[in-house]
Amino acid sequence: NADAAMYAVKKAGRRGIRFFGPEMNENARVRLGLLNNLRQAIQSDDLRLVFQPRLDLHTGRIDSAEALLRWNTKDGPVSPEVFIPLAEEGGLIHALGDGVLHKALSAQRQWSADSHDITVAVNLSPRQFAVPDLVERIEAATHRLGVSPERLEIEITEGVMIQNVESVRRTMYALKELGLTIALDDFGTGYSSLAYLKHFPIDILKIDRAFVCEIPENTQDVAILSAIIGVARALGIRTIAEGVETQEQADFMKQVGCDAIQGYWFARPLDSQSLLDFIHRHDVRAGRPTSSHIAF
Ligand code: C2E
Ligand code: MG
Ligand code: MG
Ligand code: MG
Repeated sequence: NADAAMYAVKKAGRRGIRFFGPEMNENARVRLGLLNNLRQAIQSDDLRLVFQPRLDLHTGRIDSAEALLRWNTKDGPVSPEVFIPLAEEGGLIHALGDGVLHKALSAQRQWSADSHDITVAVNLSPRQFAVPDLVERIEAATHRLGVSPERLEIEITEGVMIQNVESVRRTMYALKELGLTIALDDFGTGYSSLAYLKHFPIDILKIDRAFVCEIPENTQDVAILSAIIGVARALGIRTIAEGVETQEQADFMKQVGCDAIQGYWFARPLDSQSLLDFIHRHDVRAGRPTSSHIAF
């Protein structure tokens, strides 16, 4: 039964999987089956990207869209929180990551061809970030697809920065040199050391939705958010609030000086063409001229 299987996989967890007693064989079997399906899906190009737009609170414009991977199996969708770690364990993450980069850059090219030259943000897991030729791969991909590296952002988590510090710094500076923007994702969930902001060239802080979901009732979260935004601003780092689901939260973010928001309140992740339609409608609503030729 697929639900039970998914439950078993989720329970097995992202990291530090522990199998006990009779559950062990079942868990291992389920994961192996899922891994084989994932390998098959990558080979037959069954994974697709959706894009969640980001709203710049200063300009009221959409400045970027984050690429999020989707996998629909015959038993229903599997979350990237499940299949990304699985791909890492099963040695599939590089094939998967190359596909994501290719698709994300293709989408950016499509948007800019339609006069919406927004950036595209791609998530990289710690293991993806540690590939020795990461910079060359990214450079080659932007070249191949004719997308300026200035239109590409990468989102990494703190997990990246607890690896070999010197080599991580080198890679980050090389990516900056190339013209990329670097965002620190899920800020506030891990160690969240402010020292990271000093030692690494981070352009954007994405504040995890755990700090956003109880705004404005939770006064501790209000204080923490205001502090993070204050520190980031003093350091010249842009802040983006993730998981903004209500008008009230959006208003709050604007009021405390957060630079941009993402979340279901503004938009859910959309396929590439729907994103273009969404940007077009957003511009029309705001009374801005748009050079898009899409008819409604
Ligand atoms: P993330 O990068 O922090 O992405 C944000 C997640 O929050 C996405 O879940 C998004 O759909 C969801 N989200 C956005 N707005 C809201 C909201 O208002 N409320 C709530 N409750 N959720 C919201 P998703 O797509 O399931 O992705 C989960 C995680 O999987 C991502 O977290 C990212 O770490 C990872 N991931 C997704 N795609 C990729 C990929 O292509 N490569 C890698 N390495 N990781 C990926
Ligand atoms: Mg992200
Ligand atoms: Mg996040
Ligand atoms: Mg996340």
